[in-house]
Amino acid sequence: MPVTTVDLHLHTTFSDGMQTPAQLVAEAAARGLTLIAVTDHDDIDGIVPAQEAGCSLGVEVIAGVEINTDLGAEEVHLLGYGFPLDAPALREGLAALRLARVARLQRMIARLETLGKPVLLTRVLELAGAGSVGRPHLAQALVEAGYVASTHEAFDRLIGNRARAYVPRQSFPPEQAVALIRQSGGVASLAHPGKLGDPMRIIKRLLPHGLDALEAYHPDHTPAVTERMLQRAAQFRLGVTGGSDSHGVGVLHGTAPGAVAIPESVREAFCALLQRRAAGE
Ligand code: AMP
Ligand code: ZN
Ligand code: FE
Ligand code: FE
Repeated sequence: MPVTTVDLHLHTTFSDGMQTPAQLVAEAAARGLTLIAVTDHDDIDGIVPAQEAGCSLGVEVIAGVEINTDLGAEEVHLLGYGFPLDAPALREGLAALRLARVARLQRMIARLETLGKPVLLTRVLELAGAGSVGRPHLAQALVEAGYVASTHEAFDRLIGNRARAYVPRQSFPPEQAVALIRQSGGVASLAHPGKLGDPMRIIKRLLPHGLDALEAYHPDHTPAVTERMLQRAAQFRLGVTGGSDSHGVGVLHGTAPGAVAIPESVREAFCALLQRRAAGE
């Protein structure tokens, strides 16, 4: 089994991950990773602290983000890499998505109240800390209030996609996320395409907007799905990315950094793609 040195899909406390950027980088270093990307949902403020931690630990940290977008009833996630951290359009777009997350949270809290399960918005935002707020933080608040025994039960009974207090997030369409990432000089990769109902439809839709790569390696992909995505990438002359999508070691059903095996050739090709985009090609 070759040693995996790269993980391009990782979450921190700047979205719904359990580890701070510094903790995540220490974990990555301990697991032998030398190149990672921090890809929080709709937030890029965890990157600098991760880079600072990585500097002394021999872990290179690439700027990353996972933008959650909507296409009809389906959620499409786009990964962005290697953009400058001060890209104004990207910062503005992400700020709008984070605001929409708070508005959606308020609506879910209103529903919970009618169900006799009030929680405080301020408490959920406190649990979210810096960065973007999501349902996992609301689930934590519901556990804390004693309405459910676990976050799992919170999703099952109250806030899961088919539960009574669920309200969908408002986002923009996936092509806008691709355009934002590309205009900012970054690489745009379609996250976990194997989780989409019809990946080919989405790939074809995003190609003219500048989609650069497919995330072929992901814990939710079977080896057959990974193989199919590698074929699609070759067919459409797209790059390949991959990562563990870790939200922290010890998270229920979660994966650890470096848990997904990624060939060194993928790392090399990805770095070459980043360089081309950074050079404005
Ligand atoms: P949001 O972006 O606010 O809709 O929250 C989505 C996040 O909630 C996902 O990234 C998962 O981490 C988590 N999640 C979604 N469904 C479940 C579930 N059934 N059980 C536990 N966590 C879930
Ligand atoms: Zn997440
Ligand atoms: Fe995702
Ligand atoms: Fe993710």
